[in-house]
Amino acid sequence: MNRILYFTCLISFVIFSCQNKKKEPMKSQILANDVHSYSQPNVARVVHLDLKLTVDFEEKVLSGTARYTIDLAENATQIIFDTYDLNISSVFVNESEEAKFELGTKDRILGQALTVFLPEGAHTVSISYSSVPSAKAVQWLDPEQTAQKDKAFLFTQSQAILARSWIPCQDSPGIRFTYRAEITVPKGYLALMSAENPIEMNEKGVYNFNMPQPIPSYLMALTVGDIAFKPIGKRCGVYAEPIMLDRCFNEFSEMEEMLLSAEEIYGAYAWGRYDVIVLPPSFPFGGMENPRLTFATPTIIAGDKSLTSLVAHELAHSWSGNLVTNATWNDFWLNEGFTVYFEQRIMEAVYGRDYSEMLALLSYQGLLEELEEIKAKNPKDTRLKLELDGRDPDDGMSAIAYDKGYLFLRKIEETIGREKFDTFLRNYFAENAFQVMDTERFLELLRSKLEKDQLAEIQIDKWVYGEGLPDNHPVINSEKFVNVDKAMKSWIESGDINRLDSGSWSTHEWLHFINNLPEGINNQELAKLDDKFNFTHSGNTEVLAAWFQVTIKAGYAEAHKSMEDFLVNVGRRKFLTPTYKALIERDPSKEVARNIYKKARPNYHSVSTGTIDELLDWKG
Ligand SMILES: [Zn+2]
Repeated sequence: MNRILYFTCLISFVIFSCQNKKKEPMKSQILANDVHSYSQPNVARVVHLDLKLTVDFEEKVLSGTARYTIDLAENATQIIFDTYDLNISSVFVNESEEAKFELGTKDRILGQALTVFLPEGAHTVSISYSSVPSAKAVQWLDPEQTAQKDKAFLFTQSQAILARSWIPCQDSPGIRFTYRAEITVPKGYLALMSAENPIEMNEKGVYNFNMPQPIPSYLMALTVGDIAFKPIGKRCGVYAEPIMLDRCFNEFSEMEEMLLSAEEIYGAYAWGRYDVIVLPPSFPFGGMENPRLTFATPTIIAGDKSLTSLVAHELAHSWSGNLVTNATWNDFWLNEGFTVYFEQRIMEAVYGRDYSEMLALLSYQGLLEELEEIKAKNPKDTRLKLELDGRDPDDGMSAIAYDKGYLFLRKIEETIGREKFDTFLRNYFAENAFQVMDTERFLELLRSKLEKDQLAEIQIDKWVYGEGLPDNHPVINSEKFVNVDKAMKSWIESGDINRLDSGSWSTHEWLHFINNLPEGINNQELAKLDDKFNFTHSGNTEVLAAWFQVTIKAGYAEAHKSMEDFLVNVGRRKFLTPTYKALIERDPSKEVARNIYKKARPNYHSVSTGTIDELLDWKG
């Protein structure tokens, strides 16, 4: 935003604020200031979007019109949207009245403010625009980057602040709107959104969508490709490329049961259907909780349902995040800590406590490792409540929000008892549905329900505003992992690989085993393990990623080719970051890592290249 415009906005905001005291407030909730958005929702905000877009695979461009219904404070003279590299061609108010607009100076993280000047009586704003091929949210895949390899594919990833690179929007998690969309795609393609979705292709390639519940912009999502659908239960189903569909269907057969378990714990599911689409492997996250349609990585398709806790996680977001939403990205732990806690509860309900405790212990061990790294970089980032002013909100997406957040909630549960905590949470979701929540308000609600001795036991402030992991954190015990440790011990003491009794270990037991292999294990021993268990060619991506940590460190050359293929084909950041880090540790010149990255980078989404570019000082 340029300086003059900034002061104009500031002055008009101050005038408005003073005048507004005597006048009718806006219909919607008053919102906190969000440093990651230019919009001023207490002056003018969107309440509904009618989106009309055409998808051009040749040019890698989305173009069309975003028509917003707006809610204005009295005397509001302008409305501000967020944009990032969008080409704005025209803006109309109330359908036919051309409006003056101004694009601010581009900020590297926030993009540009689009200010639309409003005549009196304005109730809709229509923005005609197109995106650029490098739009940060959108990944355009060539046919060879898909499973089927015969048609192009595209998907978006809007969280945290990337929606503005494909739709001009008020890109702040507190601003909710309903939407309808009409998406035109080439023949032979299906389009899907975070909305009521079609289940098959139509002749014209024009698809209509409706999202009747209000959502924040970071949950806007679109994917287009050669996609087919298979129902799993009454309310659940799976979308994937046809060649992948049966495998995905088998993997997710327990989805409906997960949904029922979730509802039993925290109340009715608010979004109608719950479907999952399995995307090509360059998707940067495990999953994204786009309402009604979770976007998921194919790296969870292990063939034995062992990695489906991810579905429980994304499903849990239907309550924590999508229903009650973090007010700003500084409160991100409210979205993710709650969701990990809830994910554990769903997994416990469906698979038993033994199983969910393995997951909890793996997440705890991962947290301990990440804590050290974050502490060395910026100790303040180990607090639950973050300070992301002037930074990319992506910096807050660490194990702190997820796993420290989870442990805090588990601490509360263990202190006040599960029944009481469940009642608290059920009411919390019911009373705050479709609203924002910030850390302070949550803590106020929590404190009002706790006894004095419970408050003393939990030490809320230490958890939320203190650095690191408080000493009073819950202790997680897994009998199953104790047995893995015993088996490992007897193998090491005897030196006989045949003494390693792995019986019917699950993926999680194998992960515990690989993560805890003796420091300095030599290549000979690794080769013996590999001969027996074939880790280097495992079909399970979690096992592969853990194994590569060990093999890179040891310089076990037999795994190098498989590791390189993995990095070139998979774009999930959770796997990329530790693998590249291990490569750098092994070869501080970064040459080996950079050589692989050169080949792999075109397959990665901007969320992943953002992180790995920085690790490798990549200048393009
Ligand atoms: Zn999540």
